[in-house]
Amino acid sequence: MQKGLLLVVSGASGTGKGTVCKRLLMEISTLFYSISATTRQPRTGETDGVEYFFITVEQFQQWIAEEKFLEYAEVYGNLYGTPIHKVEERLNRGEDVLLEIDIQGALNVMKKRPDGVYIFLLPPSLEELSNRIKGRGSESPETFARRFNSAKNEIAIGKKYQYVVLNDTVEAAVEQIKSIIAAERCKVNRNENLFENLLTP
Ligand code: 5GP
Repeated sequence: MQKGLLLVVSGASGTGKGTVCKRLLMEISTLFYSISATTRQPRTGETDGVEYFFITVEQFQQWIAEEKFLEYAEVYGNLYGTPIHKVEERLNRGEDVLLEIDIQGALNVMKKRPDGVYIFLLPPSLEELSNRIKGRGSESPETFARRFNSAKNEIAIGKKYQYVVLNDTVEAAVEQIKSIIAAERCKVNRNENLFENLLTP
């Protein structure tokens, strides 16, 4: 059986990866979303086990010690990590898994899982990026400048990924990611069984 695809989608803050990933999950019903664990507090409307597993710093440290994470990183003062168990289980069953994680986390997964599919989302322009960061509200000029500059630095890291998708409209970005998925499924190294089935008497 063909193993599932490990899809890793990330991008600088303000590139709209959350919206793109939500739409992707709506359109591809077989795609499994890996729910991360985090030490940050739930926001209004968030439920434990749906958006995240909300755990304490002590629990998080315990999970690190027990090697329960595929990767983890500190993002804006909170810890975030991808629980490995469910990801492996789904991939082994031939199901595709989506990780929506930050850039440091994605770079760590790249080292461990070179067979993953790494997609970097870019904002259409710096002006649009600035509007999106401002649109998140209540940013002081200092916080805005810090986020905007760090977003620009993060964009440069995107060159380490395999695929880049411009998030001009959500629809177009989702279509491009679907095309990437289709192409990845056709890769020779993911389909060796097809050759064997045909050539083995
Ligand atoms: P938020 O707190 O706004 O939901 O997420 C903050 C950042 O953490 C986002 O960039 C999100 O992609 C990232 N993130 C969410 N889950 C994980 C994870 O499991 N690992 C890593 N490395 N980053 C994550």
